[in-house]
Amino acid sequence: MTEQQDEPEILPPDVRTAATELIWRCGNCGYQRPRAEGPPDRCPDCGAPREEFYRVTED
Ligand SMILES: [Zn+2]
Repeated sequence: MTEQQDEPEILPPDVRTAATELIWRCGNCGYQRPRAEGPPDRCPDCGAPREEFYRVTED
């Protein structure tokens, strides 16, 4: 009777978890704010509406 041993799979080091920070960015002027604060009603820089804001990751 032989037992098969599973080799532990080694993940490449560039697989990162939660190392990136999410931010909100104004699609009109590029203004950024931390995601924790949520998107503003209007961009304080250019006055663009909240719909202009989208989430991006930055490292
Ligand atoms: Zn803006």
